[in-house]
Amino acid sequence: MNEIRTRFAPSPTGFMHVGNLRTALYAWLLARSRQGKFILRIEDTDQERYVENAVDVIYATLKSAGLEHDEGPDKDGGVGPYVQSERRDLYRPYAEKLIGCGAAYYCFCDKCEEENDGEIHEASALCPCASMDSAEALAKVKAGAPHVIRQRIDRSGVSTFNDTVFGEITIENKVLDDQILLKRDGMPTYNFANVVDDHLMGITHVVRGSEYLSSTPKYNLLYQAFGWDIPEYVHLPLIMGRDAEGNVSKLSKRHGSVSFENLVSEGYLPEAIVNYIALLGWSPKSDREIFSLPELAESFSVAGLNKSPAVFDYDKLRWMNSEYIKALSAEEFAAKALPFTSVAESFLAGAWEKIAALLHTRVETFADCQEKIAFLLEQPEYGVELFNHKKSKSDPENSAADLPVIREKLAAIAEWNAENISNALSEFAAETGVKAGRPMWQARIAVSGCAVTPGGPGEIMEILGKEESLRRIDAALTKF
Ligand code: GLU
Repeated sequence: MNEIRTRFAPSPTGFMHVGNLRTALYAWLLARSRQGKFILRIEDTDQERYVENAVDVIYATLKSAGLEHDEGPDKDGGVGPYVQSERRDLYRPYAEKLIGCGAAYYCFCDKCEEENDGEIHEASALCPCASMDSAEALAKVKAGAPHVIRQRIDRSGVSTFNDTVFGEITIENKVLDDQILLKRDGMPTYNFANVVDDHLMGITHVVRGSEYLSSTPKYNLLYQAFGWDIPEYVHLPLIMGRDAEGNVSKLSKRHGSVSFENLVSEGYLPEAIVNYIALLGWSPKSDREIFSLPELAESFSVAGLNKSPAVFDYDKLRWMNSEYIKALSAEEFAAKALPFTSVAESFLAGAWEKIAALLHTRVETFADCQEKIAFLLEQPEYGVELFNHKKSKSDPENSAADLPVIREKLAAIAEWNAENISNALSEFAAETGVKAGRPMWQARIAVSGCAVTPGGPGEIMEILGKEESLRRIDAALTKF
């Protein structure tokens, strides 16, 4: 059997929607799972939508997601250029070939330029140019009349094709339009370029969003007019989002972050994002959920792709991210989490490793870190009622009496570490005849100002250092 060749063909529009990344992932997985090639093609023929640096975002995203391409603008495989604007002169001869065989025609109407790439215009409104005498049309073109080239579509009957995910699809030809293939500026539309390029690049499997399903019969007519093999189609269902009211609609910003780079900047690990989106539309044969990229490549099969739209579940992504975070080594966690905090610029810079150890099992995303340790960097305002704690029998009165003694004991510690601090607190409890929970609570509130902290008073005070810990206890004492 021939080698499998898949492609990812993003338009450089500035950011990578998770839906696009999922398309790239499945195309990559399909190639990798069957020892094929994965090709990157930049579809930039719509120059109005072009965004500076967007191509860099594409490269950076694929790299960070681990989806290495075998061929692309930066890796020649002999079928380039891989950037459509660099191929612009190549499309006209193909469009003219279609004119030659009656599958396309020149159109001189003004309205054409207003049509956007891919937009379906009134199918019933047949363009008068469709019936223009071909010699007359050619003479106009030679005389320099502005024109586009349109596909000529026979609107009788139906078109049927097979999609790997959606099965057999039948569309009535009367809904198909004489779409523009070549624009006035000589640039191809997506609708034309995708066919020519997929053929010239030897693409065997076209993996793309289901929004292209309805246009696929038109692409098939082009393949047939050229006498080319039609690739296998793998259209992917939409990714949906759920809003606060529980309504489901196409995933968009109002549901949360939708781009890979935003999710990364919100503290999700690329590996976790990739793992999560792999399962948004594809099911492995088991209940397993955590898959590394190589494991995905091993398990992936198009048979596991679902045609029903998947709902992006941010809670699930958070959970998965927390699993990936827990699996990091202490050093990796510390290195990756630091930029999400202001610890490096604070008096606690030297204690980061210890702080990171407190956070490691307690956060779901790196962005959770700063909030969890804000009390270390700066003690929040708090009232003495925080000293009330039923279980440990702490209250503001006994705290006012206990804390000066506790402070004495702490001040006497020679080697400032969590163990010695906890011992001092236990010692106080034993001497006073109370449960250890009481001084623990009192000390925790005094040094943190928070009822809930990552780590106990010993760990917190070790991180804060002796001087700062005693200073905070003194500040607490002024409150009573
Ligand atoms: N450039 C198209 C897009 O970004 C690609 C569609 C396709 O994969 O054929 O939607």
